[in-house]
Amino acid sequence: MKRTFDLEETRLRKEITKRGAKLILIQLPEGLKAEGPRLAAMAEEAGALAIVSADPCYGACDLVLADAESLGADIIIHYGHSFQIKQERVPTIYIEARAKISVKGAVKEAIPLLKHWSSIGLVTTVQHVHTLNEARELLIEAGKTVSIGDAGQAKYAGQVTGCDYSNARSISKEVDAFLFIGGGRFHAVGVALATAKPTIIADPYEKRAYPIRDEVQRILKQRWASISEAKKAEKFGVLIGLKSGQKKVEEAMEAKEKLEKKGKKTTLLALREITPETLMQFPPIDAFVNTACPRVSLDDASSFPKPVLTFEEMLVMVGEMSWEELCGKGWFGR
Ligand code: SF4
Repeated sequence: MKRTFDLEETRLRKEITKRGAKLILIQLPEGLKAEGPRLAAMAEEAGALAIVSADPCYGACDLVLADAESLGADIIIHYGHSFQIKQERVPTIYIEARAKISVKGAVKEAIPLLKHWSSIGLVTTVQHVHTLNEARELLIEAGKTVSIGDAGQAKYAGQVTGCDYSNARSISKEVDAFLFIGGGRFHAVGVALATAKPTIIADPYEKRAYPIRDEVQRILKQRWASISEAKKAEKFGVLIGLKSGQKKVEEAMEAKEKLEKKGKKTTLLALREITPETLMQFPPIDAFVNTACPRVSLDDASSFPKPVLTFEEMLVMVGEMSWEELCGKGWFGR
């Protein structure tokens, strides 16, 4: 069977043998969970008992450190994301799951959609970073000037994650528009929000290209409505994420202090998954400030019955940041 992603099976076996691992914990993102049993069987052939984490995993922010420790795993094999969390608790192997598909057709489809702009910023996820040079050449052939940001926060030049757009932001002033290479709207929406620049998606899975403007406008309208509604709230829940890379206790304390200065009552709530069901268990709370994953606030808003503001949106609400400033640069951290 031809697989879309390179799961580096040979490296998996080699790492087990080299490290003499007896028990490994395999963590896969949702789209790759189905590969778990096959990878676990392979690991067992290589001499290690393998446990597959069946919990949701949406990013490298959610490394299964505590689970690996409690299970006594020798190593974590984390699939689908690049290195993010510096830690020395459990040795961790990142297998990035690079896509084995051509981006040429999708980039060619994107070129007519970029006709109004001459200077283009190129961005992608870790699955396609190895295709950026080819994409750059295609754009140059089409007469474009191309920039690829390397702000140093992501592992690769041009790479973005769901909440890190530092590479896009570092070149935002010098480009007219962005071309995002990858599947789905999630990361492209993030690029558009983080840079306030027109963003086109070149989707190599669907072999087509399309703009993201309408989706971004819808989200912005929705966020403004949430901030306005939260202004009327008296009781706030300040959410502290318990996933290893989402825990921002200081930011939560800062939010609590700022809200209380404005006369709001606050309760700190610690949780792993922010879901409508979890938040509905606190009916006296009128609105929430989310210091964990910002995409829960931005992308899933319609499923929450009460406003769930990001930290920066809370700053707008209390008058410490303007809406224009937030839209210009503030959606993903200060
Ligand atoms: S915090 Fe959210 S957007 Fe950022 S890496 Fe984690 S899951 Fe993705």
